Formats: sequence, structure tokens, C-alpha cells
Amino acid sequence: MTATLIDGKAIAAALRAELAARVAGHVAQGYRKPGLAVVLVGNDPASEVYVASKAKQTKEIGMLSIEHRLPAETTEAALLALVARLNADPGVDGILVQLPLPGHIDADKIIEAIAPAKDVDGFHPVNVGRLSTGGKAFVPCTPRGSLKLIKSVRQDLSGLHAVVVGRSNIVGKPMLQLLLAENCTVTVAHSRTQDLPMVCRSADILVAAVGRPKLIDSRYVKPGAIVIDVGINRVTDKATGKSRLVGDADFDGVKEIAGALTPVPGGVGPMTIACLLENTLDGYEIRLKQGGGGGARFDPVTEWICTSGNIQP
Ligand code: NAD
Repeated sequence: MTATLIDGKAIAAALRAELAARVAGHVAQGYRKPGLAVVLVGNDPASEVYVASKAKQTKEIGMLSIEHRLPAETTEAALLALVARLNADPGVDGILVQLPLPGHIDADKIIEAIAPAKDVDGFHPVNVGRLSTGGKAFVPCTPRGSLKLIKSVRQDLSGLHAVVVGRSNIVGKPMLQLLLAENCTVTVAHSRTQDLPMVCRSADILVAAVGRPKLIDSRYVKPGAIVIDVGINRVTDKATGKSRLVGDADFDGVKEIAGALTPVPGGVGPMTIACLLENTLDGYEIRLKQGGGGGARFDPVTEWICTSGNIQP
């Protein structure tokens, strides 16, 4: 059996086209453009690439990209002051502080300083809490995109067994919440899980978010399962000496067993940025409803973006 390839690149492009049409519709009615502020502290090369890519795609769909590039020695107080300015800025709908931050800055403190209503990464404890109670919240972009990929091959997930490998705050835990809200039975596996192949083999939906190249091989996969490979690992090809990106799944082996599979690159990665743009536009549209022209008026405590769905009893 050869798995259906889930083309994240194409699905993300289709989503961006939808978002661009929504933005164009608002601008045609005379409203301001939605704005996404991205803050980069220091010059970590991987972060530079992510930030450049986010800015490019933000502009491509007609939104404003507001970039703040700060030196590595920026103090925590200066960064908090910038976040406070962005919170109050009526032209900013989403704030993303690129992680990791330099060691002298407390990342949790910065995330908690972002107004929940502009926390388009969905990392603020208020959004995390709301997601877990089935309330209205910004959903972290990678799990949100992963769920869309799963639903591109199967709409009704009710009653399926989903196994999420990885329990990080940005991928594994929110993925658990989203799958639970879809009425899956969810198992979260991690570095201390015993007999991981056996646990994974019982999954109708297997989400790998570990960061270990080829950890998930064909022995881990139930025939016909949907496999979402979140992992991004850089490996060097022994034969050519060239480096390339691979996922957590052994693509060639798994594709013979799975029913559907995401490639790396070209799977979850493109969906992450598309969902960041979607979160920002969702926030903007709430603000439009509140303030007509999308002005400053928003209440970070009472106004929420509904994307999490409700957890059924
Ligand atoms: P993390 O390091 O925070 O978490 C990794 C998790 O894997 C941990 O919960 C750990 O318990 C688990 N783990 C480690 N070794 C294991 C093992 N041998 N067996 C089972 N579980 C094990 O990582 P993260 O931030 O969640 O990211 C995971 C992967 O996803 C990384 O490769 C990262 O680059 C990638 N990622 C991709 C995107 C994207 O847009 N595609 C976004 C975020 C993260």
C-alpha cells in the first residue's frame, strides 16, 4: 500500500489565497489592513529565516508586516516596553515574539505580557487555559495547521484513536486538546513512554512531534493510519555531504503502511505560517466588529477568537 501524500504546501497556498480574499474584501470597504508585528531579538540564523518568511507571506496576502529587529543585548525591560506599545497600538492585530530569546530574557514573562487578544501564537496562559476548557482562544499555529491537514483526508474524527508523540507546550499539548475536541480518544506519548512502537501502532491518527530523525518507522504505524510528521530535523547525507531536512518519520518505510502521510519539507511547515496569518486575520475581524474601522478598542479579557471548538461530554 502507498499512502496518500498530504500536500501541505498546496493546502497552505489555498488557505493563504482565502485569507488574501478576506483581506482584500475589508480593504475594498475602506478598512485598514490587518497588521502582524514580529519581534526578533538577536540574530539566531534559523529565527532570521523564519521571520523573513513570515514577513514575506504576511505582505503577500495584503496584510501589514511590522518588524522589530532588536540587538541581542536588548534588556528584558526594553522588550516589555515594546510589547506594551504593541498591545496598545490600534494598527497591530497580532504580536509574535520569535523564540528562543537570549538567555537573559525570561521568555515566559514576555509571553505573559502580550495581550491575550493579540497573542496569535496562542502561547499566553489565558489562551492555553481557554483551549483546554473548550473556550474561545487563539490556537497555536502548528497544531491548528496539523488538524487542518488531518481533516483534508478525513472530516469526521469522532471515536478514532489519536496518538501524539511529544508533549511540548507548543505542539504536543495543544494537539491533544484539538483532537479531544474532535472527539478522538487521545494518547500522548513522550520520552518516558514504554513500548512506543506498540502505542503508536494502535493509532488511527499518529502525530509525531519529537525532533528525532526517522524515529517513527514502519513498525510504529497501523495499516491505513493518518500520519502527521511535525518534526523538522537537519541531517547530513553521508554520500553527498549535503545537509537536508527530514521529519520524525522514516518517509519511505511509513508510506508503504500508512493511509495518508505528510512529507517533510512541504507538510506541516507551510501550514504553521498560514495559520499564523489566519489567527491574525481572525483577531482583526473581531476588532472590526467591535470598533467599526478596526480601531484601538478591544478588551483582551472579554473578546476572544473562537477556533478551538467545544469539548463534548
Ligand atoms: P520539544 O523538544 O519541546 O519536545 C519534544 C518532545 O518529544 C518532548 O515532549 C519529549 O518528551 C518527546 N521525546 C523526545 N524523545 C523521545 C523519544 N525517544 N520517544 C518519544 N518521545 C520523545 O520539541 P517541539 O518544540 O515540540 O518540536 C518537536 C519537533 O517539531 C521538532 O523537530 C521541531 O523542529 C518541530 N516543529 C516543527 C514545526 C513546524 O512548523 N513544522 C513547529 C514546531 C516544532
